Parts: sequence; C-alpha cells; structure tokens
Amino acid sequence: MSASITEPARQIPLYGEYEVAVLGGGPAGIAAAVAAARTGRRTLLIERYGFLGGMGTAAGVTNFCGLHANVYGEAHRVVQGVASDLLDRIDRLGGLNAPHLILGKIFAQAYDTAAYKIAADDLLAAHKVDILFHALGAGVIMQDERHIDALMVETKAGRQAVRAGIFIDCSGDGDLAAWAGAPYEVGDAAGGMLFPSMMFRLNGIDPAKAGDAWRTIPELMEKAAAAGTRFPRKGAIVRPQKSGIEWRVNFTQLAREDGSAVNGLEPDQMTRGEIEGRRQAQQAFEFLRTVPGFEKSYIVDLPPQLGIRETRRVVGGYMMSGDDVLGCASFEDSIGVNGWPMEQHVAGDVVFKFPPIPQSRGFNELPYRMLVPEGVDNLLMAGRCASMTHEGQSAARVSGACFAMGEAVGAAADLALSGNTIPRDIAVEKLQQTLKQQGAFIGRDQRVPDGM
Ligand SMILES: Cc1cc2nc3c(=O)[nH]c(=O)nc-3n(C[C@H](O)[C@H](O)[C@H](O)COP(=O)(O)OP(=O)(O)OC[C@H]3O[C@@H](n4cnc5c(N)ncnc54)[C@H](O)[C@@H]3O)c2cc1C
Repeated sequence: MSASITEPARQIPLYGEYEVAVLGGGPAGIAAAVAAARTGRRTLLIERYGFLGGMGTAAGVTNFCGLHANVYGEAHRVVQGVASDLLDRIDRLGGLNAPHLILGKIFAQAYDTAAYKIAADDLLAAHKVDILFHALGAGVIMQDERHIDALMVETKAGRQAVRAGIFIDCSGDGDLAAWAGAPYEVGDAAGGMLFPSMMFRLNGIDPAKAGDAWRTIPELMEKAAAAGTRFPRKGAIVRPQKSGIEWRVNFTQLAREDGSAVNGLEPDQMTRGEIEGRRQAQQAFEFLRTVPGFEKSYIVDLPPQLGIRETRRVVGGYMMSGDDVLGCASFEDSIGVNGWPMEQHVAGDVVFKFPPIPQSRGFNELPYRMLVPEGVDNLLMAGRCASMTHEGQSAARVSGACFAMGEAVGAAADLALSGNTIPRDIAVEKLQQTLKQQGAFIGRDQRVPDGM
C-alpha cells in the first residue's frame, strides 16, 4: 500500500434531511429530481459545479442524442416527459436547433449551453427541487451493510452530511453506489473504456461560405493526413449551433501513454487529459482554420472539464447489452426507451452499430432492473452509470435515454416511500402507469409518439 495518514474522527454538521437525495445534475439527475419532487417528495439535488446539465454543459457537448428513434424508416421523438418540458424551456429561450440528421439514419438536436443551464434552473425551481451547488459528494455513512444513512459532501463551508430515505446516483461515475458497496464494472473485458474527448466551440465562422462543411471536412482531413497531419481520431463531428457563426467541434481523443483511454476516475490521468485535450483542441483548430468559411474563426469556448463517456457501470438486476440495442429488445418492466445506436469511441476511431434500419422499430426498451443496484436497498441509479454492459452503455449513455432513466427512478423513489418498501420491490406496473400519465413514452403497448 502507498503511504497514508489517519484522519481523526470528527463531528459533521447535518446539512438537511430529505426524502430523496440525488447526486449529480446531468440529464439523469435533472429528470430524477423533477420526477421525485413533483410527487411532493422533499428532494435535494447535489451538484459539484454551479450549474446543471452534466457533460451536456460541463463538457461542452451542446447536442442531444437519443431523443429520437428511426422507427421503420421514420423519425419519431421517443423520449418525452421531463425531457419535453426541458426542451420547451430551452426553445423558449431561443437556444434550441431544429433536429439534424446524423449518418443519414438518426436525428440529434443541438442547443445553446447558456440556455440549457437557465432552462434547467427554471425547471427545477418550477418543481420545487432544493439544489445544493458547489458540493462534491465524497463518501457515505452506512446505517448497516445494505442501507445508506448519509451522503457526505465537501463544500466551501466544510464537510456536511445529507440524510435521505432514498438516494439516487446520477453522478455518471457511480460514485455513490461504489461508496455504498454496490458492485460495478469498468470498461470492456480488458478494462478499456470509451475514449474521452475535449469538446470545444468555434465562433466567427462565415455561415454562407462554410455551407455544409461537415460533409467536406472528412475529405479535407484525409488529404491533410496524407500530407502528414496527425489527427487523434477519425469521425470528427463539426456542426453548426443555433447561430451559424458558432460551430461545435467533437474531434479530439484522449489516450494514456500505453494507448488505452484516459480513466475519468484517476485524478492524475484527468489532469494530463485536460491539458492534452486543450492541446489537441488547438491543433484541431489550426486545421479547421483552413476550411473555407473558418478562416476568421476562433475558439470561443473550452468547457470546464474533459468529456468523460464511460467510467463505472453499476451492476443491477439486469445489465442492458449491445445485443439488446441491436435487437430492439423488449422488457416487461420497461420504463422508457433508447433509440440511439451503439457509438463506440475506440482507439483512433468512432464505430456506429445500428439496429436494422428501416426493417426494425429502431429502439430498445429500458428495463427498470437496470436502475436498481445489487447489494444496497435504499439506492437507485440512472444515466451513464446504470446497469449496462460496456457495449450497451455505448448507446444508452446519451442524453435521451439518461432523461428517461432519470424520470423513472424519481417516480420509483416516490412509490417505494409511499409503499414503505424498497425500490427493488415496488409494483413496476404502477411505475409504468405513473410514467405514462406524466407523458413519458415507455414502449410496451403504447403508441409511438408522432413527429419530432
Ligand atoms: C465528448 C462527449 C460527447 C458527447 N456527445 C453527445 C451528444 O452529442 N449527444 C448526447 O446526447 N450525448 C453525448 N454524450 C454523452 C452524454 O453527454 C453523457 O453520457 C450524458 O450527459 C450522461 O448523463 P448523466 O446524467 O448520466 O451523467 P453526466 O452528464 O456525466 O452528469 C453527472 C453529473 O454529476 C456531477 N457529479 C459527478 N460526480 C459528482 C460528485 N462526486 N459530487 C457531486 N457532483 C458530481 C457532475 O458534475 C455532472 O454534472 C457525449 C459525451 C462526451 C463525453
């Protein structure tokens, strides 16, 4: 063991006692907190930054995937519920693009980061969610082996404790579940995770001259590569935001010295990843400046953090797999759907795998069991750290499915508290009914929502 010191025991102030405490304010955490609070549950959302949105804002993603599915050749918005409320609010602020087609098969929808942050604040306020920003979840105190008593958070006012009846892990990294002793997996069979990227945005682009540059950039990259330019990966995504003078760039890939992905759970690797990510962004920018229409552009934003796609995946009652995605699997305990294909960020490339299009319905159902961890009884999880295999997570980690999972766990927490039972034992039919009544699409016998 490396050198260590002993921390003396100390009294920790209790920040508050809640019925539901959600760790992490990304798409999963936003939806979970709203869904719990609108049932009347005293709900606290804890977030380490001073704004909501998770990777969507903190890592500069600025684009929703997985809200839509290609259903027998036709696009449908299959994630509704809380996500629709949030999207409407972003749209009212003028920050939502029309959906755009990706790879000729599936739609995504870009948004403005500032509008997302403001819309998410408004959404949580409208549902009376208490928020604690600038609080880093740092550990748990267990009541017994299977029950969390309190979540410890580090704040500028020192360490504090949050008590809750039900805890929801939406940290993306499964922090809370890991501290509570729930089992988890990391990476593929060899431990390799999806590669992270440093996103950035350019401003000062001439939209008329740039035109559909996202179509020509791959060819320009090939030419530049043939002439000796080294790019960190193929499959660069360079697309306009709401205002055509601003484009987002998803171009970089962060590896360790041995070629494996930077590990988002490792502070030293994250430190090097941040610095190397910014260096790659600058290099990518030097190439992009040669694209017609980009000559006068500049980097307007490097986000607060490196974009992490995958770390811990907590093991629950079912692990949603890549086969489930490609086979458009159905589950009796479905609580929502995933319409995004597998999107594997492997060394030097991005590999997409779709269910058969247009022959299939293009989405798989998400079973409630993937949100209930093994081993801990007053905990649920949602989002990219939910119970999925490495392959399954490469699809359902995107925002759409995270919103759907989050909404389900928030409602499930209420049902568990109402029935004085643990989340694992709630009546799933009742959860499904509640979600449908709230406007969510859960698959099963429900008609696929019309339109975009
Ligand atoms: C580079 C990149 C590009 C992507 N592109 C797209 C895209 O185009 N479209 C799309 O839909 N998805 C995209 N994704 C995936 C998507 O953004 C994420 O998978 C999604 O945001 C996951 O949602 P989540 O709520 O599970 O977790 P996250 O978004 O990771 O949110 C977790 C939240 O918890 C907070 N948190 C974590 N640990 C703690 C702690 N200990 N204490 C307090 N707070 C904590 C974080 O600050 C964060 O706000 C991309 C991801 C990356 C990295």
